Amino acid sequence: MYRTHNCGELRLAQAGSEVTLAGWAQTVRKFGSITFIDLRDRYGVTQLYFSEQMNAILDQKPVGREYVIQVKGRVVERASKNAKIPTGDVEVEITAMEILNAAATPPFTIEEESDGGDELRMKYRYLDLRRPPLKRNIELRYKVNRSVRNYLDTQGFFDIETPFLIRSTPEGARDFVVPSRMNEGQFYALPQSPQTFKQLLMVSGYDRYYQIVKCFRDEDLRADRQPEFTQIDCEMSFVEQEDILNMFEGLFRHVFKDVKGVEIAGALPRMTFADAMWYYGNDKPDIRFEMKLCNLKSAGKVYCDTLNDVDFKVFSEAATILAIAVPGTAEYTRKQLDELTEWVKRPQIGMSGVVNVKCNADGTYKSSVDKFFTEDKLKALAAHCGANAGDLILVLAGAEARTRKAMSELRLEMGNRLGLRDNSIYKPLWVVDFPLFELDEENDRWVARHHPFTSPKPEQIALMDDRARYGEINANAYDLVLNGTEIGGGSIRIFRRELQEKMFAALGMSKEEAQDKFGFLMGAFEYGAPPHGGIALGMDRLCALLGGQESIRDFIAFPKNNAGRDVMLDAPSAIDDVQMKELGLKH
Ligand code: ASP
Repeated sequence: MYRTHNCGELRLAQAGSEVTLAGWAQTVRKFGSITFIDLRDRYGVTQLYFSEQMNAILDQKPVGREYVIQVKGRVVERASKNAKIPTGDVEVEITAMEILNAAATPPFTIEEESDGGDELRMKYRYLDLRRPPLKRNIELRYKVNRSVRNYLDTQGFFDIETPFLIRSTPEGARDFVVPSRMNEGQFYALPQSPQTFKQLLMVSGYDRYYQIVKCFRDEDLRADRQPEFTQIDCEMSFVEQEDILNMFEGLFRHVFKDVKGVEIAGALPRMTFADAMWYYGNDKPDIRFEMKLCNLKSAGKVYCDTLNDVDFKVFSEAATILAIAVPGTAEYTRKQLDELTEWVKRPQIGMSGVVNVKCNADGTYKSSVDKFFTEDKLKALAAHCGANAGDLILVLAGAEARTRKAMSELRLEMGNRLGLRDNSIYKPLWVVDFPLFELDEENDRWVARHHPFTSPKPEQIALMDDRARYGEINANAYDLVLNGTEIGGGSIRIFRRELQEKMFAALGMSKEEAQDKFGFLMGAFEYGAPPHGGIALGMDRLCALLGGQESIRDFIAFPKNNAGRDVMLDAPSAIDDVQMKELGLKH
């Protein structure tokens, strides 16, 4: 038997008992003729005590950091207790030791905090995974996984696997492809999601499907993206949007209670896409704090009369003017205001400046555009923004899309600065009524906002005959948003061939192309497809949010770096000529 107990288990109650432990030597501390070793495994750390007599064994068999050892000994009460660890009241007085495996000196410290840089820790990921913070994340992920499965099981969902070697499923990204040896010159695509398969399963009658599944998208990577990521992918038949929102609100609540012990009270609020854009400037509003956007002018239409008779070019020439009233910051200094101007000028934000209006505590107003605005006008503007005494109003002006995006970012930045984005608070909501299409301005093409299998709202189907009105069509498509992050999205699907054909045509696909690529799905719709809809939740991001962290990478055992590389395996890599020839990639 390798061990009687693990390294996180021993307490005072076991004092006096003989135990066998096995694990990794985290630190070896020699004090004259005695030695202490902190022995670590997945469960914790236990202090080992090598007395004067036993020290000799360490001279014969020296133990270094990360050696795997097995020890026998007696549990004793510690003279100086360590309140920081659960095993801190005891130590094991060693009577025998075996080295099970030696270890090279690790390239960084394997403790709560590490001295290793990102790339180094990625290269030796198997060592980094020994560290407690990573272990906590992996454990949390396992718990989320289990919790999701338990909930969906009680609701009658089947976990059904779908293939990885498929033909392209459009989800708006580039495909990863795999050459076929047996079909020279042809390629499989890795699924961007199991979308079409889960819909086919609905046609087959498996009316509640789920899968915790890898998806592959060849996109440029940002900090919170991975080329392969995990979705909690679900689909249901004979459901309306309401049924899906209720089912997955239930899942969300269950996971939070189960994993975090957090009760999400009441029904999740719902906000239309249009309102989210109008009041928050993006489709994943962080509603932990107010500071809503005040639309003074939008796409050329003036909403604040005060602006009408002000002769200020920056405003009169801008299509859109947006403001936020930032509570309690009227006392910002010149330096702080200059710094905000620099902030909005950064390329990521792309504005040329920010106008400020101070609503002073004494009822006076002061602004960076005093030349153009009388105090009365400033007062009227402040009233329009619902600003209070002590607030600082920040105004951005410019083209509609850019200004809205910039204001959304500025609102979040001010939320950060005021400490209003507290990660221990969870404010989920549904964003609903997404537009069906989105205009790809560069190519003057309509593209599917979600994916081409999403149904228009039934009462708007007629608008699909008029290209000029595509922008007005909404879908029963929804996103689950938590603290400013999208954690999932889905839709009610098209389930009749004619409508699916119409959709492909609207997206500029010829009949032949649609038939070639999606004939299998449209064919299936001819054999009794039930009405259906579903959702997919981002597993990695959900775990990061539950763990109170930004990056999804630390919740994935073996992630890729920002260049999409696995630095541990050094992948992707070249393959040899023989392999290339076999695959028909070289002749
Ligand atoms: N397949 C979709 C996605 O990956 C989710 C869905 O519509 O169910 O975003």
